[in-house]
Amino acid sequence: MIDDHCHTFGLNAQPLDLADISLCVGDSPPAVARRKQAGPLRAGQELMRRRLATYLKCAPEEVEAARAEAARDWPAHVRALLADADIDELVFDIGSIDADAEASVVGPYTALTGRPVHWLARFDPLVDRLIAAGADAGTIVAEVEEHCERAARAGCAGFKTIAAYRTGLAVRADVTLDEAQRSLAGDEPVRRRGKACRDLALRRALGVAARHDLPVQFHTGFGDSDLRLSGSNPLLLEDLLHTEEGTAATVVLIHGGFPWTEELGYLALSRPNVYAELSLSNLFAPLTLADRIVRLLDLVPADRLTIGTDGHGQPETLWFAACAVRDAWQQAEETMTAAGIGAEWLARTRERAFDGNARELYVRRQPA
Ligand SMILES: [Zn+2]
Repeated sequence: MIDDHCHTFGLNAQPLDLADISLCVGDSPPAVARRKQAGPLRAGQELMRRRLATYLKCAPEEVEAARAEAARDWPAHVRALLADADIDELVFDIGSIDADAEASVVGPYTALTGRPVHWLARFDPLVDRLIAAGADAGTIVAEVEEHCERAARAGCAGFKTIAAYRTGLAVRADVTLDEAQRSLAGDEPVRRRGKACRDLALRRALGVAARHDLPVQFHTGFGDSDLRLSGSNPLLLEDLLHTEEGTAATVVLIHGGFPWTEELGYLALSRPNVYAELSLSNLFAPLTLADRIVRLLDLVPADRLTIGTDGHGQPETLWFAACAVRDAWQQAEETMTAAGIGAEWLARTRERAFDGNARELYVRRQPA
């Protein structure tokens, strides 16, 4: 499998605390206490603990100790997890805005994992920094374009936007530079400021992506507690998807749009440049994953569905999410077989979703 959406984890071993794997973010003592209290009460964490216990050959309550022992040879532990999860290549969303982004992941993580590593360039953090510094809208839009051009030349596998975490996915298609400038005034926190400017910059970034034939991942659906979920429905992207840039660029709607699975599936069904990606809910809502796979495959053409983990922080998150989706896929195949779908179609679709489609999107398009 190519994990087409994941985040970095320690280059050296850090203690594993399952309570840290949470959508409730924040470093304040109450937030930490809430995570600790809620973790064991979630089915997803219970599943992960049980599954890790089997993997580490220990009792569920001994997972932390057994993992500390296994992590003494960190590269061996990381590689064994990835091998067990059948993860052959990784596409990292690194979130960095510095020019050395490539060097910060490709070298170290290729060495650690023993696998080909690719990276996605974000541009929203650059917009944040420029708004905070008082830049005008023209400068922001130009710098975003230049940043994306530079990343494309440096060999990024695509772009990633967290517009859903900023001013939402209801991106206006007809923003003028004057409106973009006016949107920068105001006293909202930087992350919620400048909607028109962010909308314009996003459209220009799509234009760069289209020129370089690079895909753009859009965060859709649920995420951590910094998100406003109501602004993350993939259908809010419809206006943008009808623009020249939104039609020309390859758009990957990630996380399956959870809980808007069918909404996302419809966009992929009706727009030939839109891909559906399934990740994150394998970590945080694994019990219903097979159902979502069937719902996606009911709509999305088989050459436009890709699979990721959204693992982050610890390699066990990539491992668990990949194992969960593999098991769920098996269940989904049983449902589809019972409905009359042929074995050959299912085998070909599995190969495409876990490898072929992502290879086409992120690997083959990169300069050799
Ligand atoms: Zn992510």
